[in-house]
This record gives sequence, C-alpha cells and structure tokens, in this order.
Amino acid sequence: MSFAADILTLYPEMFPASLGLSIAGRALERGDWSLDTHQIRDFAVDKHRTVDDSPAGGGPGMVLKADVLGAAIDSLSGDDDNRPRLLMSPRGKPLDQAMVREFAAGSGVVIVCGRFEGVDERVIQARGLQEVSVGDYVLSGGEPGAIILLDAVVRLLPGVMGSDLSELDESFENGLLEHPQYTKPRMWEGLEIPPILLSGNHGAVEKWRHEKALEVTKAKRPDLFEKFNN
Ligand code: SAH
Repeated sequence: MSFAADILTLYPEMFPASLGLSIAGRALERGDWSLDTHQIRDFAVDKHRTVDDSPAGGGPGMVLKADVLGAAIDSLSGDDDNRPRLLMSPRGKPLDQAMVREFAAGSGVVIVCGRFEGVDERVIQARGLQEVSVGDYVLSGGEPGAIILLDAVVRLLPGVMGSDLSELDESFENGLLEHPQYTKPRMWEGLEIPPILLSGNHGAVEKWRHEKALEVTKAKRPDLFEKFNN
C-alpha cells in the first residue's frame, strides 16, 4: 500500500509545486505515494463561504474557524484512518530526520495548512492535531512547510531512491552532518580534490569521511556534536 498524503489548504494551487518534479515527482507518477489537496473553503457553511473571523479578545488579523476546519478534517478521516493529523505551526515540534523517518514508516499523513494568525485552538484539541514546525521563523502559511515535510518523507519511501544508498551516510542519519563532497575536475581554480579520495583505498576514504563528518559537525553544529558524543 502506498503512502497517502492529504492536504487541507486555502491554496490548493500551491501543490504539487516541487513535489511534482525530480525524485518526489517521479515517485508520484509511479504511484509510490499519492497527494490529494482539499479546499478548506468548500466546508464553509454561510453564503459568503467564510473561513476566518476576528480573534476573540481582540487584536490584529484573522483566525481560521474551528467549525469549518473541523468539518474539513472530518470529511477525510474514516474510523480506520490511523494516519497522523498534522498542523503546520511555528509552535510545533521542530521537524527532524527522526520524525521524518517515523512518518515515512506509516501509511500517510493528513496535513492542515494554517493561514492568517493561525487556527482556533479548539480544533487542535478536538481533532488531536499534532503541531509540526519547520523552523524558528514565521511563514505566511503552512503550505511551504507541508512541501518541506513531504519532500523529506517521500525520499525515504521504499523504492523511491532506488539503488541509491546515499541516504545511509547522509546528514543526520547517523547523528552527524555529512562529510564534504567533490567531483571532477581534480583541480579547479588552484583547489585540489583531497588526494585520498582519488587513492582507490576504500578503507582510507571511509576513515577520512568519518573524521571530516566529525570535524564539520563540531564546527557547524556544536549542539549535534555534543549529542553525538553522549
Ligand atoms: N500568529 C502565529 C503565526 C501564524 S503564521 C504565531 O505567531 O504563532 C500562519 C500559518 O503559517 C500558521 O498557522 C502555520 O500553519 C504556518 N506557519 C508559519 N510559520 C511556520 C513554521 N515555522 N512552521 C510551520 N508552519 C508555519
């Protein structure tokens, strides 16, 4: 059974975007995963098709209505649907490779994309939405976050990367950032590919890569390096 992604959004036109191209796009065409978008506005009940209203307690902006969003979520999930229901949100748990792996191991995800000032808190509670953040900055909507999440998940689905084993020693997979990469020409602007990489000595190459991974992680992400050592 393939991985099923359902997206609730006010901007279905923002999909599949980059998910329709390259690795994710080819996997989509092959049916390794499916992507369905749902217009939240279709679940509005009044004649103006209102999806948002002003924040209780005052203040700027608008809030996505619980009744509309609740109905939109309910239209998707039958009783046997055990996919996680995610809400893209700057308040969420920061997305990392461990979460990505967990999503990829499941049957799919339902992703709610917020807009405006966010969504009515009650729908998060009542529908058990798991809040996921793509970083400590504020986007104008959840859609780019959903694309980031799915891009990371889809490449881990069975068969998607084919015989490409590169994911094994990639950044984060072993708790470290990846070693530096080079390709021909051997000499460029006076800069040489480290000769050991051209030595044909696999053991030495592996050792060099591991040392570099440690070095790079220590320099660029001392927080990860600390964790790796503990
Ligand atoms: N007022 C909110 C921000 C709303 S931004 C706050 O201060 O927390 C509008 C929508 O963009 C959010 O509902 C969410 O779906 C999305 N969004 C913004 N930043 C995000 C981030 N870092 N990660 C994931 N989604 C984000």
